[in-house]
Amino acid sequence: MSDEIEKSDEEWRRELTPEQYRVLRQKGTERAFTGPLWNDHEPGRFLCAGCGAELFRAEEKFESGSGWPSFTRPADPRAVASERDSSHGMDRVEVHCRRCGGHLGHVFQDGPPPTGERYCINSASLKKAR
Ligand code: FE
Repeated sequence: MSDEIEKSDEEWRRELTPEQYRVLRQKGTERAFTGPLWNDHEPGRFLCAGCGAELFRAEEKFESGSGWPSFTRPADPRAVASERDSSHGMDRVEVHCRRCGGHLGHVFQDGPPPTGERYCINSASLKKAR
């Protein structure tokens, strides 16, 4: 895709906060209930903290009780991509920003209707836009 973003590790390290870098570029996970957005239920859009792509919307955000921002679907199915993640002894599906490749979180099949999906996303990977 022509709008994909490629930056060097040095550029990412310079542009992102240490926590954003750890999550987005090193597939880290923030501690539950510590991020600024898990308990945010105001209207608005959630953009990629790495590249600004619109990833999720408040309309699809729900309170999962997990301590991470949770959504039933992305703003656009093409905004995110996923791949199997067998790390840490678990079999999960990793989710990342299609434009910049930044790690967002994981998607689970225990979400509410209508999709049944739960996108479990790190606050550090997102920035809120009203
Ligand atoms: Fe991105």
